[in-house]
Amino acid sequence: MTVAELAAGLRAGSYSSEELTRHYLDRIARFDAVLNSFITVVPERALEQARNADRRLKRGEAGPLTGIPIAHKDIFCTRGLKTSCGSRMLDDFVAPYDATVVSKMDQAGLVVLGKTNMDEFAMGSSNENSWYGPVRNPWDTALVPGGSSGGSAAAVAAGLCAAATGTDTGGSIRQPAALCGLTGLKPTYGRVSRYGMVAFASSLDQAGVLTHSAEDAAAMLQVMAGFDLRDSTSADEPVPDYSVGLAGSLEGLKIGLPKEYFGEGLDGAIAHSIRQAIDEFRSLGATLVEISLPNTALAIPTYYVVAPAECSSNLARYDGVRFGYRCEAPQDLEDLYQRSRSEALGSEVKRRILIGTYALSAGYYDAYYLKAQQIRRLISEDFRQAFAQVDVIMGPTTPSTAFAIGEKAKDPVTMYLSDIYTIAVNLAGLPGMSIPVAPVSGRPVGLQIVGNYFREAQLLNVAHRLQQATGWHLKHPGDYWA
Ligand code: GLN
Repeated sequence: MTVAELAAGLRAGSYSSEELTRHYLDRIARFDAVLNSFITVVPERALEQARNADRRLKRGEAGPLTGIPIAHKDIFCTRGLKTSCGSRMLDDFVAPYDATVVSKMDQAGLVVLGKTNMDEFAMGSSNENSWYGPVRNPWDTALVPGGSSGGSAAAVAAGLCAAATGTDTGGSIRQPAALCGLTGLKPTYGRVSRYGMVAFASSLDQAGVLTHSAEDAAAMLQVMAGFDLRDSTSADEPVPDYSVGLAGSLEGLKIGLPKEYFGEGLDGAIAHSIRQAIDEFRSLGATLVEISLPNTALAIPTYYVVAPAECSSNLARYDGVRFGYRCEAPQDLEDLYQRSRSEALGSEVKRRILIGTYALSAGYYDAYYLKAQQIRRLISEDFRQAFAQVDVIMGPTTPSTAFAIGEKAKDPVTMYLSDIYTIAVNLAGLPGMSIPVAPVSGRPVGLQIVGNYFREAQLLNVAHRLQQATGWHLKHPGDYWA
């Protein structure tokens, strides 16, 4: 069931939050040995939160999502609970404080079942880079769920929690949502606080959600969004009511279709599903406009300078001294740094630190980092010009459906191409969604919808109308929903 349906059931007294929480905990116990979508499950803590939620519901003091069982990506700091970020480096790290996203959800009365698996420090597109092992896709357990929020995606798709949080630096909410048949929302950069979110690339990182429907994503964003004094990059913009405009008419909506998103490299069957969805929008009253985002091909090379540069700086804090992993019996300080980092960081994370350190070094800074920043500006400019003509931009979320575990693991460049349609959106700081459309050979396909800055309400409206008209979002992996 969707969050909206569960919330109505709780209010009607059809079941208690405690019963609902037990239901999900049972499912986690039954299915997660195979899926590996959770790093930490906290039954006692969850049941206590559920009983508190039930008291609030009884007293009439409940918010719209009180009592709904969810999970947090293990990148969000949770006080008193392990926050590993998918890394051996933080395997024994217990956060001393809550991320703003976590405390807002707690205040709203949501129940946290546990923390979900992810690529180490959110670097990856397949969830194979986790210290805790790969996550499996519930549609077919030989396939990856996408990454880096793959644990959150697999858990929601398999019905192990009602919804989950994720983060998206280059596609990590939208890509796993596409590969697991879910609705994924990455808000505008700064819409949601990054306080207490383990940093990967600070100018790109943004928190969002993975849900079954746009309606659910709206309800979750409502709780998370807003200015936070503790994050100077969070935006001081009013938060609208995301539920009011959901069902609004799409008559006259202008949809931009970038020709670069439908060219070479896109699987033909996926292109067909995307066209079918776009035709639906036409029957809902929208008009289609062909547009161009000429710098699309530069997005991946630009990202793979900017993101590693920022990560090499952010990850310098893991020095074996202040917190996290420390090697045995270091000889001296140099040895302590070297072995702690060598032993506790995975190979993809090391690759990024090396690239980033190189790109930022004296003599190369202008050639790489500065150049990348200039191209980043051109990419934003492409979108600015597009949004002068159209309301939203649509295309595929990913160039292919879910691939096999191991298939791309040895070839980082092929892996990086999974995010070819999502990364430019982060470089520009825009909001983006992925929603399920008609599957191809039983594998989910995602339609990406990109909006102008702070137009999350419009994206949610567009997505909701398609979901009302087609019901594609109601398809679930048979093994888990039979
Ligand atoms: N797949 C991209 C990367 O590996 C994006 C990851 C993300 O959005 N966190 O960096």
